[in-house]
Amino acid sequence: MSVRIVGLDADDTLWHSEKIFRLTHDRFNELLAPFADSQTLEARLAETERRNLSVFGYGAKGFTLSMLETALDVSERKVTTDVLAEILAAGREMMTHPVEPLPGVHAALEALEAEHRLVLITKGDLFHQESKLAASGLGEFFSGVEIVSEKSADTYRDVFRRYGEGAEHAVMAGNSVRSDILPALEAGSYAALIPYPIVWVNEAADAPTAHPRFKELESLADLPAWLAEIP
Ligand SMILES: [Mg+2]
Repeated sequence: MSVRIVGLDADDTLWHSEKIFRLTHDRFNELLAPFADSQTLEARLAETERRNLSVFGYGAKGFTLSMLETALDVSERKVTTDVLAEILAAGREMMTHPVEPLPGVHAALEALEAEHRLVLITKGDLFHQESKLAASGLGEFFSGVEIVSEKSADTYRDVFRRYGEGAEHAVMAGNSVRSDILPALEAGSYAALIPYPIVWVNEAADAPTAHPRFKELESLADLPAWLAEIP
């Protein structure tokens, strides 16, 4: 078996995340409705987030700061402190929201762990990602947890070299084409896309359907069977 290491994304691969962001977006749009329609608000918020990524990194805390900044901008600083307090509360709620593993994930990790070393590779805030892993009850399956600021080909080369025999003997599984699939293929690994119904606008990209080391799966439960097919 040539694949010995399985890298797994966390948000929207092991548990729901974007669903919670969506609920917060809805609340944000509702609070700022007196100043702009929801389409404008979505566009402005996405633009603020994009601009802030290199400053705050990924995750709910940076998102909360971007919501506050967008609220001040679109209202031309007329937004009330009550609304700002509500936005802050919505951001706080994201940090403490219960962690809900996706269906079949526990059994899939059990099956994968029997034959492979599992490494969790996720972007985002260290404290929040560690809290979510602890709350998920899935921590015991992983040989390692790598919380990285960006998922590039070099990130995957480095992680897969440290945990095993290098990227050629590893697969990355996740829901983001841009972060989990394209850079892992570039590093020389296999890559399994497990789509999640909602994709964050800043993660959208086309799947490399014809790539020989790429496979789109319906769920994580299908990963062990695909790995067994790899010579
Ligand atoms: Mg993800």
